[in-house]
Amino acid sequence: MAKVLIVCEQRDGKIKKATYELLGASAAAGNETHALLMGEGVTAAAKDLGQYGAKTVHVADHATLKFYTGEAYALAVAQAVKTLSPEIVLASHTPSGKDLMPRVAAKVGVGLASDCTALTFSGAKLVVRRPVYSGKATAEVEFIGAGPAMATVRGNTFSVPKPDASKSADVATIAVDFGSLKTKVIEVVKGNSERPDVAEAAIVISGGRALKSAENFKVIEEIADTLGAAVGASRAAVDAGYRPHRDQVGQTGKVVSPALYIACGISGAIQHLAGMRTSKTIVAINTDAEAPIFQIADYGVVGDLFAVCPVLKDEFKKAKES
Ligand SMILES: Cc1cc2nc3c(=O)[nH]c(=O)nc-3n(C[C@H](O)[C@H](O)[C@H](O)COP(=O)(O)OP(=O)(O)OC[C@H]3O[C@@H](n4cnc5c(N)ncnc54)[C@H](O)[C@@H]3O)c2cc1C
Repeated sequence: MAKVLIVCEQRDGKIKKATYELLGASAAAGNETHALLMGEGVTAAAKDLGQYGAKTVHVADHATLKFYTGEAYALAVAQAVKTLSPEIVLASHTPSGKDLMPRVAAKVGVGLASDCTALTFSGAKLVVRRPVYSGKATAEVEFIGAGPAMATVRGNTFSVPKPDASKSADVATIAVDFGSLKTKVIEVVKGNSERPDVAEAAIVISGGRALKSAENFKVIEEIADTLGAAVGASRAAVDAGYRPHRDQVGQTGKVVSPALYIACGISGAIQHLAGMRTSKTIVAINTDAEAPIFQIADYGVVGDLFAVCPVLKDEFKKAKES
């Protein structure tokens, strides 16, 4: 059993799904699971984390933490790590987790294994697996030397545990000395999408250059809305202005690992595969039977996406209604 600290992620007081996944994985392994919740006005959300596996939730509730900044959040996590002395520290490999944890590791003076896709707890030790060379190989990593083992974990690596209403966590406050910070968020401009984020969704349907225009993405969006899925895109589609950058999947976009990934008119370049090859089931629709995406697809349709997608949408609708 290890003392594990989960660095929680929340937006507007709502805990991110990836945080529940980590709490559940740690608790299921029998660890003494602590959670660190940071933000402003977030204390109310703390107790419920017990239902997902947290024994104690340490809350840093402060106006300085209202919006995420690498500088302030890294200070808070590093101070919590020093105070609580966990053997293992885990965070989600989300855009903010990716930004935050290397800073924390540097402050604490330990190494960091990022973007892990498997964790093995053994006593107080942690061994992780993480994809390397754009997912062409997997490295098994153990942590040596003093200090906690630190890792970020890819979303959807674990399923969200069923909340257990009979459990609740102890809530403790944690004071943070911010000193004199050099950065401050003045305003956050939100995107206007109601759909789930690609990095968190259980189903992602992505389109590539073959979509030819932003308007044509409607065929993809209709399926996404039927399935409650996120809409993703290749870099070619993003560079052409068909989708915003936040939807880009791949090496220079977001890394996704959904239960189902549907790639429409995407060739399967190595940089795209790097962002989605750990998806549980991959479906590809492409006119070119030789397209590399078919090499990693579980199911493939050789055909025109503009003909296939509407049929798929109708079939998904029927299946949902029946
Ligand atoms: C440093 C670097 C980083 C990169 N990072 C990323 C990244 O993060 N994400 C990413 O995606 N790419 C990334 N790329 C770009 C990558 O190399 C590819 O250029 C890109 O993924 C291609 O996008 P695509 O598959 O949409 O387009 P294409 O390669 O042009 O493929 C289009 C596909 O659509 C098929 N098609 C055409 N018409 C139809 C139709 N009507 N119906 C069905 N299929 C059709 C074609 O057969 C073809 O396979 C990166 C490149 C570099 C150099």
